[in-house]
Amino acid sequence: MQFAGTAAPRRKTRQVNVGGVLVGGDAPITVQSMTITKTADVDGTLQQIYALAAAGADIVRCTCNEIEAAEGLAHIVARSPVPIVADIHHQYKMALAALDAGVACLRLNPGNIRNPEHIKTVARESKDRSVPIRIGVNAGSLDKELYEKHGGATPEALVESAHLEMRYFDEVDFHDVKISVKASNVPLMIESYRQLAEVTDAPLHLGVTEAGPPPAGLIKGTAGIATLLAEGIGDTIRFSLTADPVEEARAGRQLLESMGLRERKNVDLIACPSCGRAEIDVYKVANEALAAFGDREIPLQVAVMGCVVNGPGEARDADIGIAAGRNKGHLFVKGVNVAVVPEAEMVDALVEWAEYIVEHGADAAIAKADVAVATREAERDRAALLDDKGDDANHSEQKIDLIRKRDT
Ligand code: SF4
Repeated sequence: MQFAGTAAPRRKTRQVNVGGVLVGGDAPITVQSMTITKTADVDGTLQQIYALAAAGADIVRCTCNEIEAAEGLAHIVARSPVPIVADIHHQYKMALAALDAGVACLRLNPGNIRNPEHIKTVARESKDRSVPIRIGVNAGSLDKELYEKHGGATPEALVESAHLEMRYFDEVDFHDVKISVKASNVPLMIESYRQLAEVTDAPLHLGVTEAGPPPAGLIKGTAGIATLLAEGIGDTIRFSLTADPVEEARAGRQLLESMGLRERKNVDLIACPSCGRAEIDVYKVANEALAAFGDREIPLQVAVMGCVVNGPGEARDADIGIAAGRNKGHLFVKGVNVAVVPEAEMVDALVEWAEYIVEHGADAAIAKADVAVATREAERDRAALLDDKGDDANHSEQKIDLIRKRDT
């Protein structure tokens, strides 16, 4: 049995509807990403949107920085597999153009559009069309006056910025908002969201902005987003990586899946770290398996283990796994040995059996196997490896003897 569920109860938020995808309330936490194409390039942008959706994005944002981009959106919205959010920079007229293009949501940065009449005009038009707005506060582009008032981009300054924007929206009776208070500094980001969660019931969009290239960018994004999610804060998330945006969407999905906050759609590959006992190049086989499964809809936990001595036991909770023996792989399903395959066929066999399990279930996979033969062969290999390397595969005892000899 795998352990499931750890996070604090989710904070109660109101709900907004982003083109059919619900955000907040009891809706599942969603993943967002952003295209990096010119939005005027309709086909190129759509191609990227499809790739993002396949990797796990529920909502995609496109920049709407010029009239050609808005015109592009008019084509994109109709053909996109997921709702489109228009990212508005400094010109409120681009927000109105994006609404005309039929986008499902706007993102306004209060630090960029500061004229209250312009903000209210956009809110009024959004209200007329039932289009929500994300108030996207960013520590790097915080309103100058707030920056000076608070002595920098503090959590209080970011929260006040969101508040000021909401006040303009309130004046025109517009409440269909979600909010983000992003920063590239992780502790600042975490504290800003915590403070924001105390003072509003609007759904929150989480992200560490300008996190940089992976792996550091992934670590920063995960540190900020996962900390808040574990506290029950957050309704939709985005990783901001200096990388192919598909990586962002995949990271978002995998983070939610790994925290048990989203139903698994793709493989969860676990692998041993390898050690002196390994009979295969675990890194290579694990990466080959990862590539073979890719983004295919196989919602199983798959284990790649370096040896049959400890592998099947250590990965007994996995849906399916392979452990290396002498030039062969021992396949096991839910800890039960089901087959032995040549080393070169390990990855193919894993995929084949995983597909079978998805279609027929683990019990059927075990039932069709010759468990007795597979177990006997695994035991034989296990005994041979133990004979060969003993219980101390890393020769620790030998090393300790050497150390002790030197000491005397
Ligand atoms: S003992 Fe076997 S399964 Fe465990 S880390 Fe070493 S090679 Fe991997």
